[in-house]
Amino acid sequence: MSTMSSPVTDATIEAGRRALLQGWSTGAEPAPIFVRASGALMWDIHGNEYVDCTSQAWSNNIGASHERVVAATARQAADLTHLRSNYHSIPLLQLAAKLTSVAPKGLDRVSFCLHGSSAVESAMKIALKNAVAPGPFLALRDGYHGRSFATMGLSWPHAENRFVPLYPSVIRVPQPYVYRSAPGETEEAVVARCIRELRDTIERAVDGHPVALIMEPVQGNGTQLDFPRSYYGAVRELCDELQVLLIWDEIQTGFGPTGAMWASDLYDVIPDVLIFGKGIGGGFPLAGILVRDGLKGFDAGDDALTFGQFPVSLAASLAAFEVIEEENLIENCRVMGEYATSRLREMQNRHRLIGDVRGPGLLIGIELVKDRETKEPALKEVVEVYRRGMELGVIFGETRYAGLGNVVKIKPPLCVTREQMDKALDAFDRILTELETDHV
Ligand code: PMP
Repeated sequence: MSTMSSPVTDATIEAGRRALLQGWSTGAEPAPIFVRASGALMWDIHGNEYVDCTSQAWSNNIGASHERVVAATARQAADLTHLRSNYHSIPLLQLAAKLTSVAPKGLDRVSFCLHGSSAVESAMKIALKNAVAPGPFLALRDGYHGRSFATMGLSWPHAENRFVPLYPSVIRVPQPYVYRSAPGETEEAVVARCIRELRDTIERAVDGHPVALIMEPVQGNGTQLDFPRSYYGAVRELCDELQVLLIWDEIQTGFGPTGAMWASDLYDVIPDVLIFGKGIGGGFPLAGILVRDGLKGFDAGDDALTFGQFPVSLAASLAAFEVIEEENLIENCRVMGEYATSRLREMQNRHRLIGDVRGPGLLIGIELVKDRETKEPALKEVVEVYRRGMELGVIFGETRYAGLGNVVKIKPPLCVTREQMDKALDAFDRILTELETDHV
């Protein structure tokens, strides 16, 4: 199969770059141009090969351009590419049945759209429809839920204050960030403090009774942070007691990367609404929500989007489910995740820059610090890991979000091989050695 539709000239590339309204920071300017991807590998326009430790915003979970997904989408596009959302397509019904059969218990209704941000807004609408009275949303302090107006308001404050008038009413509560808690504060004490603050915020109800708490079970943009196990259950209990809906944004954690199908399975907590996206489309745009039995759903027109039930994406997802199951990718994720984490912990003994290694499965975050005592964030070093990684053929993830920006992420597709993982880890080891020698 050819990889590019037509040759591209330098002039076109320049004209295209000038015309783009960016809105993105890539970490390298100008952004590299990629032309092909397969499994955990990618190739740029100059033919350089990379191990992709970002899964392209974690959307290539099962590996890029899997032949089964490509074949299923080509078939679907030839038969029926688009259908208005008030009709039903076969992949729509098949995927609705499939997703609810593998969803956490009781989440037995589903709706679809194409972007995570829109799915988060669908969940917000469900929360408002089920609330006794409209009220604010609760969000974790460094959470990320998207870049539409409503979801920007739920995310860590964006520097562009002009957007603020269009944000919904949101109250942020602290999340248990154990590595950065006060000296001497135990994990249990951190959890207890965060639960106390959450209870206090809900009970005081300064802006009305909150309609829902929305959280990522493992915060992606917000420093790749997982929480102590006891926190998840304690939040669930508190939400039940105080009648606040619990919404889990599993856009990053859903579909395998924690080493379980859902973070909900891993942590043994079932939210009232679960949001999915990214990897679930097998590389195609797809997102949506799973909603608990007993909650009021949508009425006609509540959530109607032209491409909301795009048959090609739905067919891609059905094929992605076959791949994840038949190729045992969740098991491979667990094995590769444990392998990478143990190698990183070994590196932590040798590299003073490594402050913390965290995350379940292949959602690995490595927090770099200039000094292990003060935990001063090593910001330039993270940029350098990204830059040198590209030279060495590895695309590392990094987060500049939530005011810290000192976390390197290793989140390759679940199909990553041992050899590819070693290439990434060897590069990381080498870059840290260079940085510790050079004193960036
Ligand atoms: N929630 C989470 C946890 C995410 O990681 C993202 C995307 N990074 C979103 C929501 C928004 O998804 P999208 O970019 O598809 O709108």
